[in-house]
Amino acid sequence: MKRGQYAVIGLGRFGSSLAKELVDLGYEVLGIDRDEEAVDEMSDQLTHAVVADATDEEVIRSLGIRNFDCAVVAIGDDMQASILTAILLKDIGVKTVVAKALSELHGKVLTKVGVDRVIYPERDMGIRVAHQLVSPNLLDIIELSSEYSIAEIAVPKRMSGRTLEDLNPRARYGCSVVAINKKTGIVIAPTAHDVVEEKDVMVIIGTNEQIESFEHEVN
Ligand code: ADP
Repeated sequence: MKRGQYAVIGLGRFGSSLAKELVDLGYEVLGIDRDEEAVDEMSDQLTHAVVADATDEEVIRSLGIRNFDCAVVAIGDDMQASILTAILLKDIGVKTVVAKALSELHGKVLTKVGVDRVIYPERDMGIRVAHQLVSPNLLDIIELSSEYSIAEIAVPKRMSGRTLEDLNPRARYGCSVVAINKKTGIVIAPTAHDVVEEKDVMVIIGTNEQIESFEHEVN
């Protein structure tokens, strides 16, 4: 088995973007879609692209997907096809199956049938964009659980030159700065004496409420 082989099933907007990015990152990607046009559009950009119905067990077996590191089910609208494909992939022994869900219920079913990771691209992007709209200094936010997140916050001009001891987000809001990304490099686990400059990026961890309070101060 070659390292870094991915199968992407469903070459819609999400699947095709994911597949292209994996290729750009240097991995081998097999793209599958039942729609010939979708496959044609991607065929010269992926390692292999095949027209096939992913709910057809024989076809899936013949493509050797069992030996891939990871298969991503990027079928959205056809929930039945998404769930059947996920079951089939787990059944034939694919180590890691990731699947896109369009709703909480769809996600719950995918988890129940053994999918290793369920992703909600539309929901998560909506949350992300909302945060970025209200806090322009919030560059990114990753949800760790329903309660905790990690956020990247750009240091505004008025905080420039201050130490973490001075800003003291832990005592004031309960969230911790776990890294500072500077032009000169990243400072992991900074101390109280580390100074932040304008345009540095603070990586903070905490509950969503703690992060939100800190965001308010930064904006
Ligand atoms: P997006 O929102 O990312 O564009 P869609 O749900 O619109 O997602 O597209 C998913 C893709 O999955 C479509 O190109 C569709 O042809 C493909 N697809 C749906 N069902 C199957 C199936 N059973 N086997 C293979 N591909 C499928």
